[in-house]
Amino acid sequence: MDALVRRLARELGVRVIYDPDYLDTGSGGAGEDEEGDPFIILARTPKSEIPGLTALHELGHHATRWGPQGGDNWTNKRRIDMEVAAWEWALDHTPQPLTEDGLRYILEALGAYVLARRYRVTRRATNFYLELQQQLLNLDTNGGYTCE
Ligand SMILES: [Zn+2]
Repeated sequence: MDALVRRLARELGVRVIYDPDYLDTGSGGAGEDEEGDPFIILARTPKSEIPGLTALHELGHHATRWGPQGGDNWTNKRRIDMEVAAWEWALDHTPQPLTEDGLRYILEALGAYVLARRYRVTRRATNFYLELQQQLLNLDTNGGYTCE
């Protein structure tokens, strides 16, 4: 996952910063420096699934922000859709099917945005959440791997 993250970051022109102390704040973050250059901060190197998903999600913020749905179209009301778009982008770039841990990690992240009452729930977010829940159910019934 490490090499993939580095390649995608290079393609997007995003600087990757590793900072173990960032774990106090969260597992990752995305932003721009004073010059407007995009960066992501990662608490852990993306060598395994969960840190890899975090890295892809943060890159996804940059990739989707400037896409057709991005920029100023992300109004406050649709902040959760911005998170969903970043997760969808991450999943589009994940090299292998998610494990149960990976699915649970994303579901927890999505749930946390809502539980913290930071974001209003949208239909898109609900559909994405339910889709991941369904994938989790599918894992339970076919021994660890999705069929898609
Ligand atoms: Zn995010």
